[in-house]
Amino acid sequence: FKVKREYNFKAFVPITIGCNNYCSYCIVPFVRGREKSVEVKKIIRNIEGLVSRGVIEVTLLGQNVNSYGKDLNEACTFSELLENVSDIKGLKRIRFLTSHPRDFSGSIIDIIKNRDNLAKHIHLPLQAGSNKVLKEMNRNYTREDYLNIIENIREEIPDCSITTDIIVGFPGEERYDFLETLDMVRKVRFNRAFTFIYSPREGTKASKIKDYILLEEKKKWFNELLETQNRISYEENKKFVCKKFKVLVEGKSRKGEGLLEGRMENNTIVNFKGDADLIGKIIPVIITRERTFYLMGDLARKNYV
Ligand code: SF4
Repeated sequence: FKVKREYNFKAFVPITIGCNNYCSYCIVPFVRGREKSVEVKKIIRNIEGLVSRGVIEVTLLGQNVNSYGKDLNEACTFSELLENVSDIKGLKRIRFLTSHPRDFSGSIIDIIKNRDNLAKHIHLPLQAGSNKVLKEMNRNYTREDYLNIIENIREEIPDCSITTDIIVGFPGEERYDFLETLDMVRKVRFNRAFTFIYSPREGTKASKIKDYILLEEKKKWFNELLETQNRISYEENKKFVCKKFKVLVEGKSRKGEGLLEGRMENNTIVNFKGDADLIGKIIPVIITRERTFYLMGDLARKNYV
């Protein structure tokens, strides 16, 4: 289980490999095999080592992090793992990817709410808003289940950002199914959505389902979805203007000379003027302008958070 490090201040730490879910469109369970969890001790030792070498942010990785630990001899839930990781001294930010709505538990919401070093961001793939399509996808939750989770998150952590993945044009998806996805996007108001037009993966169950909708039609739906989500992302970003946030400076920005790029706790990217020696530090930034996919800001003061 290799740790991925592109930066010397943040790292990606795998906690599970493989997946037991068999979503009908996905090849992962066939390629990576059944889910295997990395032992808690190993993960903690690993992260402690990273922190001692200057890492301040880790992202715990798994195809379905919420089912972590079910296969371990010494039982440990994902929430318990999060608690253990959160206790590591010097670790300032913890993220995790990817959650599965089927296994998402309220205890995760509690931990994010109560622990300062857990980033207030949840990536929760919706994939489709129609119960018929969700069933065909073998996702094992309904739109009502999904909305319930969102309601709980919003109630407990109002400033938590929520991002998602959505597939458009799954075989058998009709216009009215797509409209249900659009309806979910409007209801949930995701901060950001990663959207894809369905493309078949050989060997999967979905690749054998007859598909009557033309690609041209799917592209129209896709653009409709994109337009709706982009407007929502922009409106949500606008709410951050004039507020101060802790930003982990990740490097030089490509948005302009002398600009740095960093991430807020909720994973939104912020560009602001600053010296390169701020890279790798968490600093306060006041948001000055909104864009659809990022924000502009000003350094709030010299000392670090
Ligand atoms: S989409 Fe995710 S949860 Fe579903 S089978 Fe693939 S890896 Fe597993």
